[in-house]
Amino acid sequence: MELIFQKSVKRRKGVDVTGPIEGGVDSLIENNLMRESAADLPEVSELDAVRHYVELSRRNFSVDTNFYPLGSCTMKYNPKILEKAASSEGFSNLHPLLGFYYPEFCAGALELLYRMQELLSEITGMHSTSLQPLAGAHGELAGMFIVKKYHKAKKNNKKFIIVPDESHGTNPASAAMAGYSVVTIPTGPDGLLDIDILKEKLTGETAAVVLTCPNTVGKFDPRIKEICSIAHEKDALMYYDGANMNAILGKVRPGDLGFDIVHLNLHKTFATPHGGGGPGAGPVGVTQQLSDYLPSPRIIKAENGVFRLSFDEKKSIGSIAPFYGNFSVILKAFIYILLLGGEGLKDAAEKAVLNANYVKKSLEDFFDDPYPGRCMHECVFSASSQGMAMNIAKSLIDSGIHPPTVYFPLIVKEALMIEPTETENIQTLDDFIKVMREISELMKKNPEELKKAPVSMPVGRLDEVGAARDPDVNYSS
Ligand SMILES: *Cc1c(COP(=O)(O)O)cnc(C)c1O
Repeated sequence: MELIFQKSVKRRKGVDVTGPIEGGVDSLIENNLMRESAADLPEVSELDAVRHYVELSRRNFSVDTNFYPLGSCTMKYNPKILEKAASSEGFSNLHPLLGFYYPEFCAGALELLYRMQELLSEITGMHSTSLQPLAGAHGELAGMFIVKKYHKAKKNNKKFIIVPDESHGTNPASAAMAGYSVVTIPTGPDGLLDIDILKEKLTGETAAVVLTCPNTVGKFDPRIKEICSIAHEKDALMYYDGANMNAILGKVRPGDLGFDIVHLNLHKTFATPHGGGGPGAGPVGVTQQLSDYLPSPRIIKAENGVFRLSFDEKKSIGSIAPFYGNFSVILKAFIYILLLGGEGLKDAAEKAVLNANYVKKSLEDFFDDPYPGRCMHECVFSASSQGMAMNIAKSLIDSGIHPPTVYFPLIVKEALMIEPTETENIQTLDDFIKVMREISELMKKNPEELKKAPVSMPVGRLDEVGAARDPDVNYSS
């Protein structure tokens, strides 16, 4: 790499740097490093390769094959054009170091990143955005470091981060990793944060309040502006966990509500494929007063209109990921935003909320509803009067439906968290509702039967603890 780099530096001193490399890229490699003959790699026929990969893909459960109402995860359809664009050579063959040494050779990619920063700032109502964090949790950590820098600069003595008890586990974890102690606020019977307790716990030592909005039980807090201003009175920053942004896209902007720092989960809200822990992107946006603290390098547009990296931000929290963040995820999300446009994003939010309410209304006579009334883009039920949420989840697999999220949020007993997403049609929702109603009946009549689910799987009910403690890595069938 170093050699290629030096050679290209030499080449750059010549005149034409944009044309093809004389003698091809191979000419940049020293002769003694070149192969004399092609490597003897094992080969299989195209048919064997196709069968292998088709077989693997058939073992997969995905949004492309079945309904996937996994709450909080926003498993929306991933338009195929995103994949196509991301695999185009101009993007997929770029070397990540190019942006550092030869920004003019990857001007398009840098412009895309720059425009994405601008689009996300517009969507969230923030002043500026960094695309570096690699997941929502990583955006939270970046956000917590920004909170730290802000208070340090103001010589504020801050020790605590406030989170509601319905929050995602990554919120208190990020706060703790940044060295803060966590104060938890209970959720009231209306599904909203207990504002009296918040007022009591919010002191001069509170560094920030982290809220998911709408929250994880599917409620949008109408007092959100008031909450932001009481936090600001104590010079505590308001952090917006954007995992549920799909509910309010194009309708409300966290910046306009009074939030100071926002992370988005591009893989959730902007339709990029995710699951099993990756891949993701968790850009973090901030208000003007915090913009100097964003991760470095930033993508900037220089005065001559050229896009390049900037390392000049002296107050930055520094680099929190290599290069520019998860480029292919950012790229797909960028195309998704352009594909839908402002009106399309708003329409997605409206349909997501409509779908969730349709499911909620249709199931409320069958499952306990801990927080009655309208929900946002997901709904939460309790299966405690039926038995175990786990048995419902396993039983749905037999009907070809991915289980909803279970046992989260933690404050709901035997929680079932259902997020249908805007791309599901009414037949799919009706089928799901029918299956859920049948399961509810079956649990009353014959609860033992559900304990065996899923019966359609070759291995039956997995022993998950055994699988983790004593994995059979040679299993194949
Ligand atoms: C998914 C999620 C996160 C964490 O995001 P990752 O991208 O999985 O790291 C944080 N908060 C909420 C509410 C979430 O649903």
